[in-house]
Amino acid sequence: MSADQIYTGSCLCGGIRYEIHGEIGPVLLCHCQRCRKANGTAYASNAPIKVSDFRITQGEHLLKKYSSTETTTRCFCSECAAPIISIKTDTPDLYRLRIGTLDTPLQQKPTQHIFVGSKAEWETICDDLPQYDTRP
Ligand SMILES: [Zn+2]
Ligand SMILES: [Zn+2]
Repeated sequence: MSADQIYTGSCLCGGIRYEIHGEIGPVLLCHCQRCRKANGTAYASNAPIKVSDFRITQGEHLLKKYSSTETTTRCFCSECAAPIISIKTDTPDLYRLRIGTLDTPLQQKPTQHIFVGSKAEWETICDDLPQYDTRP
């Protein structure tokens, strides 16, 4: 990836648009119950990005914040409910991007499954990536 790579992304309704001026970190598949509920899915697909690389270019007023725990704030579109990023107080320099909202093709693949210990009982993981019961 070139140093001046810019990724773009948007929510489902297109009201929120963002840019990332830098690298996207390792993609984690999180099976914890909170991610499942926040997304309505088997797992969330998240990757760390630097706060300083992230810019909302449209619709910042639509971004709603919800603190799901004392240390985690989830940010989503108040119009279409698409999750965009989460903020963790223990890593203030990083956001956790919900990579399903990217519009730029992402070349890297997921690296691991986390919180497999609390995955949904109906889910079967069908790949050979490392699995961790919580966050390694
Ligand atoms: Zn939206
Ligand atoms: Zn999670």
